[in-house]
Amino acid sequence: MKRKVLLIYTGGTIGMEKNYATGSLQAFDFGNIFEKLPEINMLECEVSVYPFRKPLDSSDMGPKEWKIIANYIGKNYENYDGFLILHGTDTMAYSASALSFMLKNLRKPVIFTGSQLPIGDLRTDAKENLLTSLYYASLYENDEAVIQEVAVYFEYKLLRGNRTLKYSAEHFDAFQSPNYAQLGISGVHLNVEKEYLWRAPSDAEFSVDAHTSQNVLFWRIFPGMHLNHFVEIPNVKVLVLQVFGSGTIFNTEKTKEILQNLRKNGTEIVVISQCVSGGISFGKYSNSNIFAEIGAISGNDITAESAITKAMHLLDNPKYTGTFAENFAKNLCGEVTAN
Ligand code: ASP
Repeated sequence: MKRKVLLIYTGGTIGMEKNYATGSLQAFDFGNIFEKLPEINMLECEVSVYPFRKPLDSSDMGPKEWKIIANYIGKNYENYDGFLILHGTDTMAYSASALSFMLKNLRKPVIFTGSQLPIGDLRTDAKENLLTSLYYASLYENDEAVIQEVAVYFEYKLLRGNRTLKYSAEHFDAFQSPNYAQLGISGVHLNVEKEYLWRAPSDAEFSVDAHTSQNVLFWRIFPGMHLNHFVEIPNVKVLVLQVFGSGTIFNTEKTKEILQNLRKNGTEIVVISQCVSGGISFGKYSNSNIFAEIGAISGNDITAESAITKAMHLLDNPKYTGTFAENFAKNLCGEVTAN
């Protein structure tokens, strides 16, 4: 049976080609993808294309576009076996993380991919990324989707979407998932590491909750940082604070006073690490004790992209009972290692 995949084209380098008259890159009409990539017709799946009317550089993608994608998948969920989202690489990790929180209890694959070189370039990585993503998006066994989560496929690796980060603007191998195993590797065979795949609770129904709040701020500390900048933080409801190593910050009275005041004003503080691998461990060093004292939330080994989009999704979300801190501490869809 031919599986049906809905391809949502949002923009990015992947959909570009060189205009040989001017020498510059321009977006091509993705409705014509089958002409550009006749190999698609050789696949075992049937592909329908929904292109954004105006393809976006992914630096212009945000909550509005995440909602459009989430709701479009929701509307078409029953009609397709899998979903493929073509996206610019720059903010792909944010969009994949956001979608992982919005698409609840997925039973079908949602694969993000893009490329470092345009599809019309001779040395492009776009073809392999796109074709293999289509394989993963249509992979079924015993009438059940093998991938039932939001994943990123790039340069032979299938990664959990909310665990990825873009780490190279140069290499074809541009994405990593430092705190979680690869879900699959594409070699001569299309391999899937089944023990690492996410499965929603068996009694839970698929639904879309595209709630997003933008009252979230991200701040990275650095040695010599002027602490008064903390005071200047506007009335933000969640501050994602990226601190040193396993959770350390300046051990001064001023730091304590300022962070305590933020908490008194009702700001939730989520603490994540500047290290891409490993995570937060409150109390390991005395320079992290402040966080437990003020009731900050440990982000453990979550990525910055995931921490930010999770906070945006949970903040003031009427569908969640319990406090923000309680909900943030939960592993909602494989984004964090349980404490
Ligand atoms: N600036 C592009 C984007 O993220 C880069 C890419 O697609 O690789 O949309």
